[in-house]
Amino acid sequence: MIIDSHCHLNLLDLAPFEGSLLAALQDSRDRGVGAFICIGVDLDTQPAVMAIAAAHEDVYATVGIHPNHVVASMDYERLRYYATQPKVVAIGETGLDYHYTPETAVLQQASFELHIQLAKDLGLPLVIHTREARSDTLDLLSQAGPQAGVMHCFTEDWSTAKRALDLGFYISFSGVLTFKNAHALREVAAQVPLDRLMVETDSPWLAPVPHRGHSNRPGYVVEVARVLAELRGVSLEEMTAITVTNTRTLFNLP
Ligand SMILES: [Zn+2]
Repeated sequence: MIIDSHCHLNLLDLAPFEGSLLAALQDSRDRGVGAFICIGVDLDTQPAVMAIAAAHEDVYATVGIHPNHVVASMDYERLRYYATQPKVVAIGETGLDYHYTPETAVLQQASFELHIQLAKDLGLPLVIHTREARSDTLDLLSQAGPQAGVMHCFTEDWSTAKRALDLGFYISFSGVLTFKNAHALREVAAQVPLDRLMVETDSPWLAPVPHRGHSNRPGYVVEVARVLAELRGVSLEEMTAITVTNTRTLFNLP
């Protein structure tokens, strides 16, 4: 079995499954997915994320406010409340995004720091999103001291990967790794230590080749692992086992 370490199950396109999330999950299980990490992005949709994790044994939840969703007044007490609920395995996604929402940079930094503190308080790992904000992201993480976590949907260069690895972070690759023009990213992926690699779909976005252009689903995580296996000269089964072990370790899964 394989684990999709980052998906948004509450946002999946259910049209191919006649509106049934159950059928969508089963499709992914049939493709080999044995666990799903369902990622929170804001307080309004957090209850839906929690409800899916509560209803399905193989679904786990994270709690966070995505940097693109940060606004001036955020209810961090509510965030903390959700974070203490059953089946929550991480804090995030959090981080910094200066590409889509540069105007909220200062608010994002404050939110990121609160997420880091919450993760520390609860002994949970962090799920980090960073876009056009690599040095601020890494600076805030290193200032915070030792912390476990993952750089999700990694698309940065090797020096960024190296700094994250030095901080003890895992690096998770998405369908972007399978894109024809992603040569530089594949070179980065070829260098990440095997015991720090994870795979994800970030579904419903970023469907991997050969499903590019369609709505993404957790079962397609196999395509990411396949490219990673080829890059590292190991079998798909070996790469799957490696990423499952890493994901279980980071998120403390049973
Ligand atoms: Zn995401």
